[in-house]
Amino acid sequence: MNSATSKISNSRRNFLRGNITDKVQNIRPPWSVNEPLFLERCDQCDDCLDACHEKIITHDADGYPCLNFSQSGCTFCAECLEICKTGALQGLRSDIEQAWNHIIRISDSCLSVRGVVCRSCGDHCDERAIKFTLLTLGRTLPEINTRSCTGCGQCIAVCPTNAISIHETIERSL
Ligand code: SF4
Ligand code: SF4
Ligand code: SF4
Repeated sequence: MNSATSKISNSRRNFLRGNITDKVQNIRPPWSVNEPLFLERCDQCDDCLDACHEKIITHDADGYPCLNFSQSGCTFCAECLEICKTGALQGLRSDIEQAWNHIIRISDSCLSVRGVVCRSCGDHCDERAIKFTLLTLGRTLPEINTRSCTGCGQCIAVCPTNAISIHETIERSL
């Protein structure tokens, strides 16, 4: 078995085993088809990596494209979608709601809930999807409006305690 075949087999095996950790870690580019189809169609050409001006598309352990929000977020420019010729990314660039089903979660390492003033995530959210509710003792609770959050990830890199992560809400059927 050559290394490319080995890579593909590992990814498919992980998915078939229902390897949740692997699935959560590997956020595919927007407009990706469902995971089994994605692994079948993506030929690891790296065209989407080159097309992404935000440089948020990187490789997973098996060489498939996945997103890294540690420096920036997705602008939904759809350059990755336009360049993909295999059908691994599919849809209308004007239809951002179809891009993916991701929203963020905020863990209890958030400074704000510990009484330290911080609004970085809310300040960087164009959708105004994070609101802060006053608690006692100078603490505030960041709350996500799940209807407004596009899962763009722009709030992730600016969080000083890495309290924000991104998750799939429901699996894509396509
Ligand atoms: S939509 Fe644009 S910013 Fe988002 S991953 Fe694709 S190329 Fe990058
Ligand atoms: S940026 Fe991070 S630490 Fe600051 S309020 Fe948001 S989640 Fe909390
Ligand atoms: S992922 Fe994007 S839309 Fe959602 S809260 Fe963060 S910055 Fe706002």
